[in-house]
Amino acid sequence: MTHSSPAPNATADVRTHEGVLTYPDRTPSAARVTAQHRDAKARASRAALTWAVGWALAVAAVFLPVLHFILVPLLFVGSPMLAWQRLREPATLIQAEGACPACGDRRTFQLGGAWRERTSLRCEACGRALALVLPEAPASS
Ligand SMILES: [Zn+2]
Repeated sequence: MTHSSPAPNATADVRTHEGVLTYPDRTPSAARVTAQHRDAKARASRAALTWAVGWALAVAAVFLPVLHFILVPLLFVGSPMLAWQRLREPATLIQAEGACPACGDRRTFQLGGAWRERTSLRCEACGRALALVLPEAPASS
């Protein structure tokens, strides 16, 4: 049977990864991390959308009294910078799931930034500052 062909044009390439939750002087615990991966085409369209929306907002901000002195230059310069950043972001962290190494409570941590080898988190149960340690960003497909 030929059911092994990859899904064509998958818009949301969400994958699960192994990570580790750490707290000083405690045994690290395993964490399951979900991240959205984007290929070059998906990254380019996301960056283009960011840039376009930013400049559209800059044009709209021209009509705001006083605020336009700040908003227009900020959006005009900031949009390409944010677009550039998104163009170079192959994976975005969504959430991490695992037991807190300090209190043992199982938690789901909502993330949202680019893939980082070290992310600071706070356990909602005990309030301690934890670190989520991940391997190097996986190669983009
Ligand atoms: Zn905790």
